[in-house]
Amino acid sequence: MSEGQAERKPRRFPLQLEQLPAGASTAASARASRELLRPQAPLQHAVENLQRQSRPQGVGLDSLSVRQRMVARLAAEGISHTGVLDAFARVPRHQFVDTALVNQAYEDTSLPIGLGQTISKPSVVATMIQALCTRPGLLAEQAARPLGACLEVGTGCGYQAALLALLARRVVSIERLRDLHLKARQHLDQLRTAVPGMPDIRLIYGDGMLGHAPQAPYDTIIAAAGGASLPQAWLDQLAPGGRLVAPMEDAGRGQVLTIVDRLPDGSLKHSRAGAVLFVPLKSGMT
Ligand code: SAH
Repeated sequence: MSEGQAERKPRRFPLQLEQLPAGASTAASARASRELLRPQAPLQHAVENLQRQSRPQGVGLDSLSVRQRMVARLAAEGISHTGVLDAFARVPRHQFVDTALVNQAYEDTSLPIGLGQTISKPSVVATMIQALCTRPGLLAEQAARPLGACLEVGTGCGYQAALLALLARRVVSIERLRDLHLKARQHLDQLRTAVPGMPDIRLIYGDGMLGHAPQAPYDTIIAAAGGASLPQAWLDQLAPGGRLVAPMEDAGRGQVLTIVDRLPDGSLKHSRAGAVLFVPLKSGMT
């Protein structure tokens, strides 16, 4: 190639004024030149998109920061188990309640979930899960998944099942109301893609008063509904070293949180924590 030929080719760099596209004042070219000046823009857009996606609809707040405030409140109220606090930080409670209640999703309050049932308030759920995670029979090798094999009675909307799943080796959760069982399945299917590290949660439509013998024994059992006494099946399905936490009627005192430990020799040790208010434990299915 001779020098003369090279001279005739348009120079690409640096760009000459006459090489600017015609109509440089149009909106499109103005945008193009802005983007040239802001090479970091795609990164910023990605961050903005992420923030939009994780924002509860109609709340106008970033759900992660609202959740972190809830976690700070739980810690201030005495929840100290880091695994429990981390689970509360990771599970988006607003995705388990009706759109009309999304604004209250991170307040320490129980909320209706349909069919006359309620999702318990975060501080009570956290207290119960922490009691299970700190059971005296916990073995060192179970520390990463302190709930071990876990049975939940009363799936409801599935929120507590999601928290349990982050702390358990496996979870079996039973619900006696078909519509809630199906709703929980839908919620948890949605969540599985968003929250990594969730083991399988076995959702069962059935009478939780019978427990679930095929997967027994359980290291931990948690009930979200309270009756006059503890069903025998729960005690039978509790593994040595295991702990059960459930609300139970205490004559004249209303509902109290009841804790039962199965000691290594097989015997049971009962203790009581504070007063609580849960929906009634009912037999049969609807
Ligand atoms: N853990 C739930 C709370 C649900 S409220 C959540 O996070 O949403 C308690 C649930 O216990 C109700 O859905 C109620 O239908 C259910 N329940 C009551 N008695 C039951 C029984 N015998 N077996 C299974 N579920 C029962």
